[in-house]
Amino acid sequence: MYPASFDYHTPGSVQEAISLLGKLKDDAKLLAGGHSLIPMMKLRLAQPKHVIDLRKVPGLTGIKEEGSVVVIGTMTTHWQVESSKALQAKIPVVSEAAALIGDPQVRNLGTIGGSLAHADPAADMPAVMLALGAELVIEGAKGRRTVKADDFFKGLMTTAVGPDEILVEIRIPVPPAGSGASYQKFPHPASRFAVVGVCAALTVDAKGACAKAGVGVTGAGTKAVRARGVEAGLAGKTLDQPTIEAAAAKAADGVDVQADLQGSVEYKSHLCRVFAKRAVTEAVKRAS
Ligand SMILES: Cc1cc2nc3c(=O)[nH]c(=O)nc-3n(C[C@H](O)[C@H](O)[C@H](O)COP(=O)(O)OP(=O)(O)OC[C@H]3O[C@@H](n4cnc5c(N)ncnc54)[C@H](O)[C@@H]3O)c2cc1C
Repeated sequence: MYPASFDYHTPGSVQEAISLLGKLKDDAKLLAGGHSLIPMMKLRLAQPKHVIDLRKVPGLTGIKEEGSVVVIGTMTTHWQVESSKALQAKIPVVSEAAALIGDPQVRNLGTIGGSLAHADPAADMPAVMLALGAELVIEGAKGRRTVKADDFFKGLMTTAVGPDEILVEIRIPVPPAGSGASYQKFPHPASRFAVVGVCAALTVDAKGACAKAGVGVTGAGTKAVRARGVEAGLAGKTLDQPTIEAAAAKAADGVDVQADLQGSVEYKSHLCRVFAKRAVTEAVKRAS
């Protein structure tokens, strides 16, 4: 199906895009890689009167290190994230998760910022950002503000980005020595979206105890969330198999698991536990 007709804008700067958003208000949608927006427009689930294409805006693409933080521009594609030497060396789980998104076409056009701003409940990156304690930089007419991943995902396809704002940057702290992280998902056989996906990011101290645990779950409910039960089950403990299993058993606790076409609440809760165990087990191996 063809989308409803719309006016197409190609701003040459972030400021120009923001001022267009301010002027056109709810009638406008930003276009990044188009791999969520265009399908929604074709299905007439979205019918913006104006599309503001970010692809000609300079400065929104790229991956750089700033001290102990890796900074990813919002328009950086999944493929660029997957193949980034800086990420592979410093925070490999981000590259690994990007490599599990969709297929080569999706990864070559879809962007990390588009994925986070869209906040599809089955998207992979939100779980990874929650586990790693990332920060999201949002720009609007009044300047930039930084939001923690914990405060970014508000609900079903709803984020902290306001109607006249743009997500411009993702900032991920480089985990200290003794850290390990893993993202494990049960992919939908057709789309590869996560039926359930779990990212575990752990830091182990010199005595072998868990100094820090971040665990993000996607696919289970209307938005990605921290699996606080798993985190509490790991924090301060020696990460042996019984501890990992007891913690992973709490993966669905406090998560608002929703039944959908992919499965019942019981089934998806089970997947949370299975994939939490796999993610934590692998993260522990990598941290040792
Ligand atoms: C067949 C298929 C399979 C897929 N499989 C997966 C998968 O396995 N895992 C997964 O995680 N995703 C998957 N996706 C989604 C894919 O990752 C998309 O790229 C992503 O969801 C949206 O990114 P985009 O750059 O294409 O954004 P767009 O589609 O261009 O935009 C999406 C939404 O975000 C808004 N937006 C975009 N950029 C910004 C910004 N900088 N600031 C504020 N708002 C912004 C847009 O206005 C729009 O509402 C799949 C998509 C397809 C078509």
